[in-house]
Amino acid sequence: MIIDLRSDTVTQPTPAMLEAMMRAPVGDDVFGEDPTINQLEAMAADMFGMEAALYCPSGTMSNQIAIKVHTQPGDEVICDQTAHVYQYEGGGMAFNSGVQSRLLPGDRGRITAEQVLQAINPDDVHKAHTSLVCLENTSNRGGGSCYEPEDIKKIRQVCDQHRLALHLDGARLFNALVARNESPKQYGALFHSISVCLNKGMGCPIGSILMGSTPFIKKARRVRKVFGGGMRQAGYMAASGVYALEHHINRLAIDHEHARQIAAALQQKPFTGALLPVETNIIIFDVKTPWKTSELVAALKEQEIFCIAISPTQIRMVLHLGISPQMVRRVIEVIKTL
Ligand SMILES: *Cc1c(COP(=O)(O)O)cnc(C)c1O
Repeated sequence: MIIDLRSDTVTQPTPAMLEAMMRAPVGDDVFGEDPTINQLEAMAADMFGMEAALYCPSGTMSNQIAIKVHTQPGDEVICDQTAHVYQYEGGGMAFNSGVQSRLLPGDRGRITAEQVLQAINPDDVHKAHTSLVCLENTSNRGGGSCYEPEDIKKIRQVCDQHRLALHLDGARLFNALVARNESPKQYGALFHSISVCLNKGMGCPIGSILMGSTPFIKKARRVRKVFGGGMRQAGYMAASGVYALEHHINRLAIDHEHARQIAAALQQKPFTGALLPVETNIIIFDVKTPWKTSELVAALKEQEIFCIAISPTQIRMVLHLGISPQMVRRVIEVIKTL
């Protein structure tokens, strides 16, 4: 029994999701004629209380589109130093938008209004024009940490005072919403644009949704075409998103509980060093000597438990809908033997 905890992107569509996909009515989405994509976009916009939405092939593309629409070449974008938009999008910010990033040392991926305020460049010809702030919730490298909405509100106030756009990389926003019992509309009101992934814990094979105002999404639709992301009968894929929004949000609480159970077992072991607080579905922990990180990954792999070393000293495990309670019991048993 292979137990794959490398990422929540390794999920397989469930039989019910596949069935919904097979039944989807489709059309040419570049002509705006795919009823299932239109349904998904309307559903998401309505859920978050935002004016409009755009279905994108990946979270990387939806983030990159947002950055492109919110900025001009030569601008500066403020984000945490561990942010996905900086660390894991292939330098896309510079490549696609010609902007540079201003990296802040946050707390488990979360930055504060004071930090943002201090990072805004003055109106000076020597300085890049600061135009955008990107937050990430939950934070991937922060071990699935969640923002306090109050702290986001303060960041939004700073953005409003300095005419900055505020974008949320909400790849795992549903995990935060479920963990903290918050509503999507709360978030829709706080950001100029939000990207949420469907290909992570939501269990879809592909896809992300970008949301914002009607004029923002109109521009985003053009940029998506420029980036090569204008799709045709992609309603088959969007149907997995509709299905996930209807059936896969509340179940994220199971993944969070599974993460807590495995983390508790890890905590009992002498090889476990600092373990980041487990707020959602991600576990990140330090491996203590004499164990080497690679040895621990290999020992787990021998028992068909897959996880990854995200740094020379850190291992990450991610829970998702492909992991059953029985698998979690097995992981805990194996951890006890190591
Ligand atoms: C996965 C992820 C993305 C987007 O990833 P894609 O694989 O391109 O869909 C964006 N931000 C964060 C924080 C992520 O974890």
